[in-house]
Amino acid sequence: MSDKPYLTGRTYLFKISKGDDLLAALEDFCVENQIKCGLVSGIGATISCNYGFYDQKKKTYIKHKYDGAAEILSLAGNVSLRDGRPMVHAHIMIETAEGKVSGGHLMGGTKVFASELFIQELVGEEKSRKLDKATGLFLWTNVKN
Ligand code: ZN
Repeated sequence: MSDKPYLTGRTYLFKISKGDDLLAALEDFCVENQIKCGLVSGIGATISCNYGFYDQKKKTYIKHKYDGAAEILSLAGNVSLRDGRPMVHAHIMIETAEGKVSGGHLMGGTKVFASELFIQELVGEEKSRKLDKATGLFLWTNVKN
């Protein structure tokens, strides 16, 4: 394992359009800009939101869907490589019109109403994911391949 720190690379502030799939748009942005490692954050609002809770025994996500307007209170995550392609892993916290807060692992199909997104590229040792049998998750490995 390398203790060499990452250096900050390019910094992006951008928005995606109403109706766009949040996770797909983030990953497409990373592919287009060749961002292989970085930090993601954002705020905004969703039209519908798909998020998950990882069942540690069954090793699968329990899927939640909120259909309706919600505020994105927090979107936090990172970018690394899976099978050589930039992959965004992010968690989202939303507030509904009733003032209830919920959230979890961001899943595909989340449609934004509006969004203000931030990506800080990190430059350094390649960070890639591989299946970890103990958890059933694709976790970071320091093995280069
Ligand atoms: Zn997650």
